[in-house]
Parts: sequence; structure tokens; C-alpha cells
Amino acid sequence: MTPPSLSRDFTPACPVPLPAGRAVLLGHGSGGKLTADLIRQLFLPVHGGRELSRLGDAAVVRLGDVRVAFTTDSFVVKPAFFPGSDIGALSVNGTVNDLAMMGAVPRFLSAAMILEEGLPMEELGAVVASMAEACRKAGVELVTGDTKVVERGSADGLYVTTSGIGMVPPGIEVGPERARPGDRVIVSGPVGSHGVAVMSRRAGIEFEADLVSDTAPLTDLVAAMMRHGDVRCLRDATRGGVASALNELAEASGVSIVLDEEAVPVLDPVRGACEMLGLDPLYVANEGVCVAIVGPGDAGAILRAARFEPAGMGAAIVGEVGAGPPRVTLRTALGPTRPLIMLSGDQLPRIC
Ligand code: MG
Repeated sequence: MTPPSLSRDFTPACPVPLPAGRAVLLGHGSGGKLTADLIRQLFLPVHGGRELSRLGDAAVVRLGDVRVAFTTDSFVVKPAFFPGSDIGALSVNGTVNDLAMMGAVPRFLSAAMILEEGLPMEELGAVVASMAEACRKAGVELVTGDTKVVERGSADGLYVTTSGIGMVPPGIEVGPERARPGDRVIVSGPVGSHGVAVMSRRAGIEFEADLVSDTAPLTDLVAAMMRHGDVRCLRDATRGGVASALNELAEASGVSIVLDEEAVPVLDPVRGACEMLGLDPLYVANEGVCVAIVGPGDAGAILRAARFEPAGMGAAIVGEVGAGPPRVTLRTALGPTRPLIMLSGDQLPRIC
């Protein structure tokens, strides 16, 4: 039998993922450009009603006179237990925060658990307890759920999908399309801690300093910020980090954003770990950090209000909004600017 000819029978693997490739890649779940392409090219043409096409963290729909925020999120983080938290708390906070990012008050959650045969009952119990504690802290109630089990080897222990609903108070208008030239950009706390905490456990690296996930509910922080001025856009900087969140907001609003590198807070151990692992903290996932675009006259008052909240103690004004076309640039510590693009794939797959 003759060996297959390279030109006819063999397609070399391309190191750069192709958006229109023939199979799903890990990068399609990264929250970066590949995810955005999948949504725009596959999902939106089929399902894209007006609300879905906004690409908010949650949909805001009307039920009679009431505006309800509604969202869903799956959690496949590997490993399920990591420094500072676990998949249980993450699955509650992630959905709670997506509701909060639309200015909603989160109320009720569902949880669907996909369990792998052989998962130690003790681990499942720990995840369930962690979810209960996170619900209590976030002021939400888990009111419905589902349990499925798949064969040994078909999942990494467990996956959790949560959905949530919340009420959008009258008069609150927060949306990804509301940024205007002159607005200021606030980041609610030091960036990169969650991704680095998970990655350190996965890589088996023990850092000397405490390096823990930032996962936390942002509900109280958002409420405090909205009480003190015009919060136009909010996005939790999860997969793809602050860089991706800002690119999405710039695109949705048709504006440019300049981010001041020196103003972005990064904890020293996170910065050190990023250097060691070759990661850019601006692209690393956060689970308790959001970016807010706020009216220019209100930025000082909103920042002060944020810093009074536990989740916003490290908040900082980090950038400014300009006219379109949509793009994000980074003003570096040395002075020049460079484009801050959306990554094609991901620095870190399965981070949440
Ligand atoms: Mg989100």
C-alpha cells in the first residue's frame, strides 16, 4: 500500500485556528474572536431576534409591565476545585453577575448538573454546599434544577449550567450600546486573579504568595455605582479578560476606547505569575471584576461609591471613550499606544 500523498490526502493542522473551520475548536469557547465569529456566523442568523442581537450579558425582556433580565451560563472549569473557590460558587456568581451587568437585581436561579459516573459523593456535596453559600451571599434562591449522569470518561467530574432571572428596576438603562465619546472607563478591581489561580492549580505551580480566585457577586457594587450617576455600560470581564470586554463594548456602541496600562490594577503575585506563565493580565479571566463605562461628569462619584463596596475596593478609572470607528488601544507605560485586539482563541481554555 502506498503512503498517502501529502498534497491530496493530508491536510496539515494549522496552528492558527480558522473561524470557518470544519470542526469546533477549544478556542470557540474562549470568549474571544472565535466565539464572536461563531455567534455572528451561526447562531445569530438563525435565532437573532432584536434582544439576542444586542449581545448583552443577559437579555432584558418585558413580562407585562415588568422588565426581566434572563441569562444562562455553563461552567466547565478544570479543575473543579481551585485556589479560593470551586465550580459551585463560580456557577452561581457567574450567572448572578451576568444579570447584574444589565442593571438587574438577581432573584432566582436554576441549576443543571451533568455528573460523571464515579465522581466522589464528597466532591459533589462540597460543590452543592458551595452553591448554597454563594446563593446566600448573592441574595438569590435556587428554585429549579436537573441532574444527568454520563458514563465514566465522558466528562471531567461535573459540569454545571445555571440560568437566572432578575428584575430591572424602573428607570435603569444599562446596555452595551450606550457608551458615548467622553465617557470614562472604570475597572472594579485588580485583574487576572481568577485565571491565574486556576492556571496555577492546573500547572501544579505553587506560588509563594496567596493567589486566589476573585469570584464574587457584583450585585451590591453595581447597585451602589448606579445610585451615584449614569452607568451606561457594564460587562463582567470573564473569558478573554478586560481586553475582550472592552472590545465588545466598543463594537456594540460604535466607539473607540483608550485604556491606560499603568492605571489598570494588577496584584503583584498575579503580575509575577503572568510573567512566569507568559500571560497578559488584560486577557486573563476574572469572575468578580467588571468594567463600567460611565458618564464623564459622574465618574468621580461613581468611583468613590464603588470603593466603599467590598467587591470594588480596588476600583480605578482606567480609560476614556472616544469617537468611532470601534477599536481599543492601550496607552503603554512608556507612552506610545498599541491596538488592544480581541484574541482569536484563548490564552487559557476551560477557565470558567
Ligand atoms: Mg458576562
